[in-house]
Amino acid sequence: MNVFVVNCGSSSLKYQLIDAQSEVVLAKGLCERIGIEGSQIVYKPARGKRSGDKIVIQSPMPDHTNAIRMVLECLVNEDYGVIGSLEEIGAIGHRVAHGGEKLASSVVIDDEVLKDIEECCELAPLHNPANLIGINVCHDLMPHVPMVAVFDTAFHQTMPEKAYLYGLPYRYYTDYKIRRYGFHGTSHSYVSKKAAQILDKPYESLKTIVCHLGNGASICAVKNGKSVDTSMGFTPVAGLVMGTRCGDIDPAIVDYLVEKEHKTVHEINTILNKESGIYGLSGGLVDFRDIRKGCQEGDEKCLRAMDVFMYNIATRVGAYAAAMNGVDVIVFTAGIGENGDQMRKDICEQYWSYMGIKIDDEKNRLSGEDVVISTPDSKVTVMVIGTNEELMIARETMALVKE
Ligand code: AMP
Repeated sequence: MNVFVVNCGSSSLKYQLIDAQSEVVLAKGLCERIGIEGSQIVYKPARGKRSGDKIVIQSPMPDHTNAIRMVLECLVNEDYGVIGSLEEIGAIGHRVAHGGEKLASSVVIDDEVLKDIEECCELAPLHNPANLIGINVCHDLMPHVPMVAVFDTAFHQTMPEKAYLYGLPYRYYTDYKIRRYGFHGTSHSYVSKKAAQILDKPYESLKTIVCHLGNGASICAVKNGKSVDTSMGFTPVAGLVMGTRCGDIDPAIVDYLVEKEHKTVHEINTILNKESGIYGLSGGLVDFRDIRKGCQEGDEKCLRAMDVFMYNIATRVGAYAAAMNGVDVIVFTAGIGENGDQMRKDICEQYWSYMGIKIDDEKNRLSGEDVVISTPDSKVTVMVIGTNEELMIARETMALVKE
């Protein structure tokens, strides 16, 4: 069955068409600047005459309906299409940011689920409304194709109360659902399962810590196959220092900055989300490759940003080893986790040698492979695994649609 995987943002849309049986990607790409001048679609077919090509079409896309229409046209195009007709799409899997407490696992979308996703818009005002647009447009264009919602928060719904409650008046939790939710759940779930599979160990027997280090970054403690703690919180701004997000800060700073900078709470919030983290610390760099280059050249700001980032990761992993009373496997994933070999080595040597971790330098230098980078006598196994949220969405979608 071919599953169309849709990840809808407010002005972008990422998509993949995956043969869910063979797990082969037939085509993928993204639509950018939807509703803004200069919109374009990037389309990469992986079979047919134009397999391996990158096709870029600049065309006005006033809204998501136009964008999805264009994607579907590409998929069936005579020259570069990968399927004969839209009938060959068996199901659609939607990435949805927030499922709250009610939507604790992937679900087939019906009217009630739509209502539940809508109710979570309050909790994820930047993401859920865009996800809903994607769902509604797909339903309009392909009304008979079953659709599944896969939530970023769902994997973390197994966290115990002690990990998800904040030290606030309890009624804020009961009245407003203020608690730690955590995000990147699809990635943490995929990567932790894959680690067990590669090591040929039962998933339910392992204590694994997954470091998802991309532009957004989070760490998750997975004990016996369940998320027991994670670094992002009520929103994805919490936890580690990230590309542009501040991560955990003292809440009193907001009030203090409102006064000092003569800004509104909303303006400060924007700064915490878009101008902080690595960007703020380095004085305007956000791409990890630039930071790494700066560090190699001895640039003070880059060294400082890298130091804070590494310290954040190292100490959070230490906390999760304590939360699980031990750790068997630590996995690095996502853009920085998969490519930052020097950073991985530095963290392991500077902070984790007390755990008996030893790194095999040669294996650590391998990029683009799922690999164990620790030595055989290392007390904790350290791995690098490429994340694949789209494949996980396709798997969940097929499993639910087949039922
Ligand atoms: P993600 O959000 O997972 O796409 O990750 C984005 C981050 O990964 C950016 O900071 C990139 O600079 C970083 N990244 C991607 N590819 C590489 C690479 N080959 N080497 C170093 N960093 C990379």
